[in-house]
Amino acid sequence: MITFDTWNDHEHVYDFEIQNETKGALDVLKWAYQQYGDELVYACSFGIEGSVLIDLVHQINPNAKITFLDTHLHFQETYQVIEAVKEKYPTLQIKIKQPSLSVEEQVGQYGENLWNTDPNQCCKLRKVIPLEEELNGVKAWLSGLRREQSPTRKHIQFVNKDERFHSVKICPLIHWTWKEIWRYAHKNNLPYNKLHDNGYPSIGCAPCTKAVLDINDLRSGRWSGHGKLECGLHQA
Ligand code: SF4
Repeated sequence: MITFDTWNDHEHVYDFEIQNETKGALDVLKWAYQQYGDELVYACSFGIEGSVLIDLVHQINPNAKITFLDTHLHFQETYQVIEAVKEKYPTLQIKIKQPSLSVEEQVGQYGENLWNTDPNQCCKLRKVIPLEEELNGVKAWLSGLRREQSPTRKHIQFVNKDERFHSVKICPLIHWTWKEIWRYAHKNNLPYNKLHDNGYPSIGCAPCTKAVLDINDLRSGRWSGHGKLECGLHQA
């Protein structure tokens, strides 16, 4: 098993065949579950990439472990799609991970609207630390990142050494385009977050997510005006 501690940049170059229907995703997932079994966790935000990756994961491991970081600041539509996914895939183990502070406690300690005054601190408290807790002792985690999504993601590999979480991060969807994601979702009638139909290509917490004007800039609706591209879960 390849772990953060045994990672060797020269030995571990992972090349999967990508000239197939899922552009390598199913092969990557088969490899990942053979390597890590129950020690593999999918941290899912339940956007459209999440809908697709859940469906692929379910084909390989119907009992896969999936974690959602519940910041208590998500849109109702996000909670609705989680319920729809639970109904469609009842064997998946979906965990809703909570931050240690409620929103009210955060206001008491850090003031109103920390997402405006210091979004990095807010993300740290409500996303990064909870994921750290979830990945503590976990050898590898799955993410639905795609290279096309933003300049910070264009060099991601299928298998990555993750310094931030002292783990191995596996990204099966790196070669998928936005159109391919939607084609797969519609063809397979997958449940998805209905905000996608209203101009939200990338969906995070409600205070930090806006509809976009330019659909070609998929993440421009996130932390608009803050010069922030990532929440801290994925290093730029
Ligand atoms: S996305 Fe916004 S509201 Fe959510 S944790 Fe980060 S700063 Fe806070």
